[in-house]
Amino acid sequence: MMSGKIRSRASALLAGTALLAAAACGAGNAQTSKGQDGTQEVVAAFYPLQWVTERVGGTDIRVTGLTAPGVEPHDLELSPQQVAQLGGASLSVYIKGVQPAVDEAVEQHAADRSFDAATAVKTLAAQEHAEEHAGEHAEEHAGEHSEEPGHDHEVSYDPHLWLDPSRLATVATALGERLAKADPAHAEGYRQRAATTAGELTALDGELAKGLATCSSKTLVTSHEAFGYLADRYHLKQVGIVLDPESEPSPTRIAEVAKLAKQEKVTTIFTEALVSPKVAEVLAGEVGAKTAVLDPLESQPSGGDYLSAMRTNLQTLRTALGCS
Ligand SMILES: [Zn+2]
Repeated sequence: MMSGKIRSRASALLAGTALLAAAACGAGNAQTSKGQDGTQEVVAAFYPLQWVTERVGGTDIRVTGLTAPGVEPHDLELSPQQVAQLGGASLSVYIKGVQPAVDEAVEQHAADRSFDAATAVKTLAAQEHAEEHAGEHAEEHAGEHSEEPGHDHEVSYDPHLWLDPSRLATVATALGERLAKADPAHAEGYRQRAATTAGELTALDGELAKGLATCSSKTLVTSHEAFGYLADRYHLKQVGIVLDPESEPSPTRIAEVAKLAKQEKVTTIFTEALVSPKVAEVLAGEVGAKTAVLDPLESQPSGGDYLSAMRTNLQTLRTALGCS
């Protein structure tokens, strides 16, 4: 949670930044925002990006997360202060397609000072009924979610790329380069920390690959379709009940998933902390399965960090899928 104190400090820094930027005009980095101690101000859209940005930036940057812990990020709305903060930051780290409000603010206020992590990796195509996901905000006033394609949506890929640690490692490396360019004086530090972070993520990737190699089931029934990259990377099959954590599944969709879960002899229906487990519980009851919590890491975990939460996910998956 961002405290008022930090916020007002950030505003003060912003005001100072404008002066600095004016003074630095002609130096070639007039757009770069620095605090009075020379620290780069960087905005990160939501938790996994905040984690990777803090890791790579170290003490050379000050990271502000736009999404408070415990808040589901997809439908985030930005306060005017947050928009100003994003506009004044030397870099905004985000993933286009996750948060429409952030996409819009970046486009309007920080287009030349933004890092879209999706541009650093090979993305996967959006799931079959993914129109709901990106188009959700466009029709929230209608109070219903159509599964029909064709309405306004911004990206054609699945944006949940952070759930593949090997892709997040690639993001860390690219972010290190980007920060090195924005702040050449500290380039060496950014590159070193990026390499360390990428190494940790690659090690995690290896653990997941090994831990999920031999399992009696390969089907992952999840609350919302956040785990496409994890499924792709470790040869699992994801069946999401809904695409967007805020939307309600249709009875047809629940029946569809129930049928599939029975066919595939699924023993566990996965829920997540920030989504009501009700639908998953009903489904589990119908199929004769249990429920277990799998963290999509869209928000800061209540304890630990990205690495430890992913290791907990691995243990949960190993139990649920009967991996040896
Ligand atoms: Zn999601």
